[in-house]
Amino acid sequence: MKPLILIVEDEPAQAEVLRYNFEREGYTTVVASDGEEALLAVEEQQPSLVILDWMLPGLSGLEVCRRLRQRPETRTLPVIILTARGEETDRVRGLDCGADDYVTKPFSASELVARVRAVLRRTSPNLGAEELRRADVVLDLAAHRVTRNGRPVHLGPTEFRLLHLFMERPDRVFSREQLLDKAWGRDIHVEPRTVDVHIRRLRKALNEGGRPDLIRTVRGSGYALDVPNS
Ligand code: CA
Repeated sequence: MKPLILIVEDEPAQAEVLRYNFEREGYTTVVASDGEEALLAVEEQQPSLVILDWMLPGLSGLEVCRRLRQRPETRTLPVIILTARGEETDRVRGLDCGADDYVTKPFSASELVARVRAVLRRTSPNLGAEELRRADVVLDLAAHRVTRNGRPVHLGPTEFRLLHLFMERPDRVFSREQLLDKAWGRDIHVEPRTVDVHIRRLRKALNEGGRPDLIRTVRGSGYALDVPNS
């Protein structure tokens, strides 16, 4: 899965330069030109990282970042803020909205790509990997095989996709709707309750042999993979 970068920038030329450079580096991108559009895109597209311009019409980048941090689904979503000048960077940092990094304009595209890579490496080390390891669970994407504590875990295709999502973003809370979109596809109509059924199957398969439960139910929000000491 190629990491999806959401570019929030109201200047079309600047947005296009960023889009071009990130796609050339193997990322997929989506562009939003204001804060409202950005929040919608985060919900619908679930990007791996957000590049957020600080000066936007309507909602400022700072406000968008704060709102992302308030929601359990996006609390840990990596955010890089773009600011115009050095002093402004200090001011934005001072207002601290919980961004992962700040980049001052003007910057070179290759510098920003490097910063994105560094943030993703730190926050989502498993993104795009062929084999994911969390606690005693190993998910081999190429062979489509899962083991826990060295023993094979037999999963149906939906449970495999669910586990894949969880393992790519441990500790992130996924809502039922997000899981439906990602594991079933947005064109298929499935009741949100169906998610619970498949989560139950996934839990049962993973916990076989009395292993500790790794799937956390977040009341009112959804599910997350809970990995101790990671
Ligand atoms: Ca701007």
